[in-house]
Parts: sequence; structure tokens; C-alpha cells
Amino acid sequence: MTSDTLFSKIAKREIPADIVHETDRALAFRDIAPQAPVHVLVVPKTIIPRIAEASPEQAELLGHLLLVARDVAAKLGLDATGYRLVINNGSDGGETVPHLHVHLLGGRPLAWPPG
Ligand code: AMP
Repeated sequence: MTSDTLFSKIAKREIPADIVHETDRALAFRDIAPQAPVHVLVVPKTIIPRIAEASPEQAELLGHLLLVARDVAAKLGLDATGYRLVINNGSDGGETVPHLHVHLLGGRPLAWPPG
């Protein structure tokens, strides 16, 4: 059995978070250290450690996470100005929490390439 993670504890309401959207399979909540005026994390309720470990059977769930991020962006008023979706994988990618999450960033122009 997979051990709980910080984000699975948030999904189970064992740790507080500023939740902005929920579906049967996903939760979206504000990042505790926002890097933009809107910075939301979209996580699956089941634990996938990182995209590198996702299986083909999880393809539908992975697509669901992107659509939830899209819906949250619209809900938070980012459609007109745009936004960025980011998944960090492994140490060079900047991953710090081993529970797959899509960062939704918006509300200011975002530089490219990222640092
Ligand atoms: P990553 O570096 O891609 O693994 O992203 C992890 C993100 O989780 C970081 O942006 C953190 O600021 C965020 N984070 C860590 N703890 C919490 C928490 N308790 N509630 C909300 N976001 C968190």
C-alpha cells in the first residue's frame, strides 16, 4: 500500500489548504508559496509519485488533471490573459513533493525560458 503524502493528506482534509475546486478524482488548491498572483496545484486523489511513474492505465486520469487545470484557470478569470501549466519531475525538474501535481500559474506575464 502506498504511504500518504502531503497532498493526499490535504485531499483527505487532514491538512488544511485553500481548496478552489474538486472533482471525484482531483483536487485543486492554492500553493502555499505562490509564484504568481494565481498559483494553484491540481493533484490526483490517488497517489502517482511523478509523471515518470504514471502508467498507460492512468492516461484518462492524467487528461482529467489537465482539464481540471483548464477549468480552474477559467474559474479564476485567467482565460483572457493566459496562464501556464507546469509539471516538475525529479530533482533537476524542481520536484519537491512526490505526489504528481500540475502547477497553474497566471495573473502576470511569465518569462520563458524558465530558470
Ligand atoms: P514541486 O516543487 O513541483 O514539487 O511543487 C511543490 C509545491 O507544493 C511548491 O510550489 C510548494 O510551495 C507547494 N506546497 C508545499 N506544501 C504545501 C502546502 N501545505 N499547501 C499548499 N502548497 C504546498
